[in-house]
Amino acid sequence: MAFKFTPRKKFCRFCADKELSLDYKRADILNDFITERGKIIARRITGTCAKHQRKLTTEIKKSRQMALLYYTAVHSTEVKKKTI
Ligand SMILES: [Zn+2]
Repeated sequence: MAFKFTPRKKFCRFCADKELSLDYKRADILNDFITERGKIIARRITGTCAKHQRKLTTEIKKSRQMALLYYTAVHSTEVKKKTI
């Protein structure tokens, strides 16, 4: 149950929601923190705190290895449609 990414409000989503698991298996959540090209979005844009950003980076990389996270723009758009 990913909620919309709001660029205007800056706060760490993982600190705000303790129930939100930061896990490589949650591609729906990780997708909010990467660009369409699969690049990780900078912390100052997402508002994620240093601690969680570090974990996020690790999980995204892990997720890529597991091929759960899509690389191409086409695929990532498809995933976004489902989660929003
Ligand atoms: Zn945090």
